[in-house]
Amino acid sequence: MNNKWLRQTIQSFKPYAAPNINENIVIDANESPYNIFDFPKVAEAFLARMKQTPSYHYPDPFAGELRQALAGYVGCEADEVLVGNGGDEIISLVMNTFLNPGDVLLTHAPTFDIYGLDAEVLGAEVVTVPDLDGYRRDCDGFLEKIKELQPKVTVLCNPNNPTGELLPMSYVEAVLQASENPVVVDEAYLEFSGVPSIITKLSQYDNLIVIRTLSKAFGLAGCRVGYGVAQKEVIDALSLTKLVYNLNVLSQNAALSALEYADEILAHNIPPTLAARDVFYKALEDVPEITMYPSATNFVLIRVPDGPAMDKALRAADISVRSYKAENLKNCLRITITTEDVVRKVVSVLKEEVKKHA
Ligand code: PMP
Repeated sequence: MNNKWLRQTIQSFKPYAAPNINENIVIDANESPYNIFDFPKVAEAFLARMKQTPSYHYPDPFAGELRQALAGYVGCEADEVLVGNGGDEIISLVMNTFLNPGDVLLTHAPTFDIYGLDAEVLGAEVVTVPDLDGYRRDCDGFLEKIKELQPKVTVLCNPNNPTGELLPMSYVEAVLQASENPVVVDEAYLEFSGVPSIITKLSQYDNLIVIRTLSKAFGLAGCRVGYGVAQKEVIDALSLTKLVYNLNVLSQNAALSALEYADEILAHNIPPTLAARDVFYKALEDVPEITMYPSATNFVLIRVPDGPAMDKALRAADISVRSYKAENLKNCLRITITTEDVVRKVVSVLKEEVKKHA
């Protein structure tokens, strides 16, 4: 195909190469180890809902019942929620709604790649504020950049992927106050952090857009259910370019069934993950060759002496983790925390491999 057929903004994009995963222990995408359909009540509720859902009808375009359930879960009104095919869709809608070619998208680095990619497709300019040493956000630098540039869209990932760092709500509010334009606060991992969401302050900020997902703490990544939370006028704006039937009935019903038992699911899924994370930190605290960064999420970023060699050693042990080519994440690996069992296997490979560099 003639490369010139592509819109100019994507002509230098490389085709997406889906990672080739041959390993049995897959801890590279911050997924949950728990299957929602292993909760008998959830499975029953899902099947009962599907029986009552005629397959020949299109889904409810605004997923009314699910919006209501999510609003109940996060503590806002149903018309302050927009449901998407994963949080990814909501991010894409935000960019499509607000960015003109040449507008500035501001974010910090490293963070979740999708914001920058979506902005580049639209011909926006992506400005990033690099983290300080130890992957601590440059909070002052970020606020200064907002004041200097008044970016069209600002993104703050909290807790951040891939570093795991959680910033206090007072800082998130400072960002919202500094910006005259929309601010995306990505809370995909908030449930693991145990702190209140910025959604509790929604009525005070007409520029706040929160990204949430059922992919992580609820373990619904395969069903693709994410949502945005903002004041009603912003939700209406985000809906302007949404695909009409963006969320199919299977996903809507799976999400509704999960939310019916939200308390039980979270009580089942989160504490063992946090306990396994503690085991991970403890097991490696006396290994000076490995730097571990503090995480408020279900993953931990570590730096090892030789990232590619460590990745290879883990693969040889049937374990797939996330490794990085980017310079700002050199020799770093992001390890999803699932069960203690898996953590112990990972730790043993990490310890064995670093001995070779001692
Ligand atoms: N935000 C962050 C920070 C993420 O890490 C992810 C998933 N990796 C998402 C949003 C999107 O999640 P999903 O599309 O699965 O809802």
